[in-house]
Amino acid sequence: MSVKKNITILGAGLVGSLLSIYLSKRGYKVTVYERRGDMRKEKISAGRSINLALSDRGWRGLEGVGIAEDIRRIGIPMYGRVMHSITGDLNYQQYGEDGQAIYATSRGILNCEMMNLAEKCGVTIHFGHRCTGVDLEKKEAKFETPDGATKIVSSDLIFGSDGAFSAARLAMQLGTDRFQYSQHYIDHAYKELVIPPGANGSFQMDKNALHIWPRGGYMMIALPNLDGSFTCTLFFPNEGRTSFASLTSRASVRTFFSEVFPDAQDMMPTLEDDFFGNPTGSLVTVKTFPWVYKDNLCLIGDAAHAIVPFYGQGMNCGFEDCTVLNHLLDEFKDDWTKTLPAFQLSRKPNADAIAELALMNFVEMRDKVGQPSFLLQKKIEAHIHQLHPNKWLPLYSQVTFSKIPYSVALINGMRQEEIMQKVMNLPGIEERWNSPEVEKFILDMIG
Ligand code: FAD
Repeated sequence: MSVKKNITILGAGLVGSLLSIYLSKRGYKVTVYERRGDMRKEKISAGRSINLALSDRGWRGLEGVGIAEDIRRIGIPMYGRVMHSITGDLNYQQYGEDGQAIYATSRGILNCEMMNLAEKCGVTIHFGHRCTGVDLEKKEAKFETPDGATKIVSSDLIFGSDGAFSAARLAMQLGTDRFQYSQHYIDHAYKELVIPPGANGSFQMDKNALHIWPRGGYMMIALPNLDGSFTCTLFFPNEGRTSFASLTSRASVRTFFSEVFPDAQDMMPTLEDDFFGNPTGSLVTVKTFPWVYKDNLCLIGDAAHAIVPFYGQGMNCGFEDCTVLNHLLDEFKDDWTKTLPAFQLSRKPNADAIAELALMNFVEMRDKVGQPSFLLQKKIEAHIHQLHPNKWLPLYSQVTFSKIPYSVALINGMRQEEIMQKVMNLPGIEERWNSPEVEKFILDMIG
């Protein structure tokens, strides 16, 4: 049995902070090294999206360390999505059952809360420490410190939770044989924009929904913030006739938005400043294996499996990593030699599945959600779920409101999609979508 006492975590982001709390609560001495300054004291841009959608897998991760209720208080429930057509028509689609919601949560507040709790639990966090390398055999991590010096830290086990461009992962690439690694950038990038609060801090749109402007090859979404504003994210091609490369002047941006997102642009007084002032972020899927080197180093969160954000699951999946690791530590009584291989074997297929689901959901969000046939299909699925909850759970609910492994959800979802394609081809489905014949047709196919 491999006993560990001192654990080093690289990265105090969302996953590293949560992991540090779990491990500290188990009695380990945990030290976290974070490249950036302390976001609780300095104004640091969060780096990625300003707000995120937290769903059931994320909540379970937070519940495990007792902070779910505190975070829920600062989250805004979004019970469904509102599709905005080009003519300004709104179409609402509920996400799950009555009362089920995903929560818009501030990345910064969430991260700060978790760092506070980590320190209360005895975790030490060193800020301004950039990991520049890991000696996998010696279990040593090398850092550049705020004064430019080099520091080498040795411990019993190192976790690499240093995000999509992980230094720990690079050490695995450089220092091990047959390390599988791929990164795939999609042709779209993202840009954050703002819809400010209305009069007296009021929300200018329904705050309990995620807003989507699906436009075929691209889309914009908006999530509410506590101050009455919405953070909009434009997912847009990098190159081409309608792309970031083609919108080069303030006038062209305003004209484009007024033609394509007219209702939104009316509420975006700082559109041009935001468009040219905010960075354009790339969107990458990262796949790796193995995640573990002996019982010396383990990759977790985005460092092991970064995904595109279209299912709102990157952080949720990383939090689920922490929950699963904690359960395995219970099961193997903190024997890391058994826990780490079991962890990567359990999580890898699920990380691959959510990566695929996230890519698939981009097509759904930017294109299909605007189509009447898609809305009808979702209505039929919700109806069948209501009648036969044990036989049919829509894919979105499996991913978002359940703990069904992502890999199982992906298989179920593909099977359900096959069935729904046949249902949608039934003559007159628009009129008889909730008829007993259609119900029987579906049940016969479920078997
Ligand atoms: P990160 O949050 O990237 O944290 C890594 C940390 O490591 C950072 O603090 C970084 O400074 C630090 N670090 C990096 N390199 C080093 C180094 N060399 N040395 C020391 N420290 C280092 N997920 C959801 O669940 N729901 C959403 O709605 C959602 N929306 C998203 C929208 C966008 C536009 C994007 C881009 C992502 C979204 N995600 C969402 C995904 C989510 O942001 C990530 O999955 C999540 O942040 C991963 O957490 P992490 O801790 O693994 O990595």
